Amino acid sequence: MSKIDLPALIDAVADTISEHADELTALDQAIGDGDHGLNMKRGFEAVRAESAALAGQPLPEVLRAIGTKLVMTVGGASGPLFGTLFMSIGKELPTEPSRADLAAALAKAISAVAARGKSQAGQKTMLDVLYPVQAAVAAGKSPGDVADVADGAAEATKPLKAIRGRASFLGDRSIGHVDPGARSSALIVRAVAKVMEHSA
Ligand code: ADP
Ligand code: MG
Repeated sequence: MSKIDLPALIDAVADTISEHADELTALDQAIGDGDHGLNMKRGFEAVRAESAALAGQPLPEVLRAIGTKLVMTVGGASGPLFGTLFMSIGKELPTEPSRADLAAALAKAISAVAARGKSQAGQKTMLDVLYPVQAAVAAGKSPGDVADVADGAAEATKPLKAIRGRASFLGDRSIGHVDPGARSSALIVRAVAKVMEHSA
């Protein structure tokens, strides 16, 4: 992997989260409390506000700073989980990562999210997108194909019954809706993939 354009990456993720905030809110209104769109938008706009200060710092530091910011600003259940994801990737990645480094860092970071959420695959959460994304990266798929895997995985949370998070309070009534955190994860993955394609 060549050098990633960090300000472009931050803008791309903040743009897509803000553009889809209403959709994320609607998904969370169906099986949660309807705050996921605003939570994520607040978090990534706060990250964007730091973008200039972060530019020029090494990739691992930037990812750790993004994670810390998300923990402080997103709130809800997803704030600490997305925060853990970014902080752990930052902790694991070398300054100029190879694809194998990225796959390894993702695997460790996703395990950290699962430990933090006491959750696992198949419970209708963001993990149901993150695990297949890690597998696709490890398998050497192109950024565009990884993003397609993420979209498909988010869609595939629809028939699942929620076992973790607020949606689990609904039991069987959580079936038939896409999980908001799975959808926001797929949006982030597509934005990152687009920037990586351009810097490849
Ligand atoms: P809250 O549920 O506190 O309102 P959000 O609405 O911001 O927080 O985020 C909800 C999303 O967080 C869910 O759609 C799910 O993907 C994710 N989530 C919630 N709890 C867990 C957990 N224990 N493990 C993994 N992901 C979780
Ligand atoms: Mg919510």
